[in-house]
Amino acid sequence: MLTANKLTKTYAEVAAVSQVSLTLEPGRIMAMVGASGSGKSTLLNVLAGLADADTGDVWLNGERVVGPSEKLVPGHDAIRLVHQEYQLMPNVSVRENIAYALRFYEKAYRDFRVDQLLKLCRLTEVQDRIPRQVSGGEKQRTAIARAVADKPAVLLLDEPFSHLDLPNRLIVRDLLFDLVRHEQTSCLFVTHDASDALSLADTLGILRDGKLIQLGSPIAVYHQPATAYAARMTGLVNVFKAKYLPVFGFKEPVNPDELICLRPEQVRLDEQGASGTLRVVYFKGSHYELDVQVSRYLSLRLLTSRNDLQPGQQVGVSFDEGAIWRLKS
Ligand code: ADP
Ligand code: MG
Repeated sequence: MLTANKLTKTYAEVAAVSQVSLTLEPGRIMAMVGASGSGKSTLLNVLAGLADADTGDVWLNGERVVGPSEKLVPGHDAIRLVHQEYQLMPNVSVRENIAYALRFYEKAYRDFRVDQLLKLCRLTEVQDRIPRQVSGGEKQRTAIARAVADKPAVLLLDEPFSHLDLPNRLIVRDLLFDLVRHEQTSCLFVTHDASDALSLADTLGILRDGKLIQLGSPIAVYHQPATAYAARMTGLVNVFKAKYLPVFGFKEPVNPDELICLRPEQVRLDEQGASGTLRVVYFKGSHYELDVQVSRYLSLRLLTSRNDLQPGQQVGVSFDEGAIWRLKS
């Protein structure tokens, strides 16, 4: 188990990480979602002992993880960080890249474990190629295989999905899921795109300007976001002032400036509902995403499977009172 207490790290007066506390449990995945510059990479570096925190501390199974200022060789044996750029050795094969992490083990075990990892990461067929002869997805899987080769307690990944196409994202997602459960690794990945995080993480955090503004189950963060930023970082969302609620037949709100958060799948087409003009129809494969202008200052996003709608036509929209989430700030 890895625990971080009130970590703060400042670069030239910018708090890259500010008062972040978290716990990573064996066999569990945490995801941290934040915009670019929100402190994701800095947080990983501090957790891995590769950067010093200004204040706060990191503990792994009761032992303090020290930063580079207190250690000759930065980093911790049982904590692995997979960088965004993979950092593979360019002139040796995929197999040797992975085997290198096991160079202090007996050859028989090393061969066995490398074969196991190649299989798990679906790299057996490309094991003899060097990194520039394999795809981005295969490079990413090689980096992950190498990182987990000697069964570290903690696996940290910096934007593991950002350079991958959809098929490879799904492979890496399934791979991480299996790996973490199978080897009981404590895993944290950071990302600016929550779509993978929602389905993969047991716990989801939202980072903004270095601060952990929310931490909870993906379902809780998605449906009860702490702020409009948390709502937007976790998917498509309608955010509007409560003063518009009467447009949809709800009573006048006590606080007209309060922000309402409504997910598009909770809005439905309804002839009895508020009328509006369909502005845009986006084909999304499994469904359509619509943008309905309900009043001069308010348009709502919603999802539908109907395929007979044209921009410009009048439609009605409604939602249940239970779908409304009031933002605290
Ligand atoms: P993210 O990974 O979420 O994009 P980073 O952790 O890289 O965010 O950066 C967080 C903030 O800290 C940014 O404002 C960035 O400019 C700043 N920062 C990161 N690394 C350094 C550094 N080595 N020197 C100065 N500022 C830095
Ligand atoms: Mg980063």
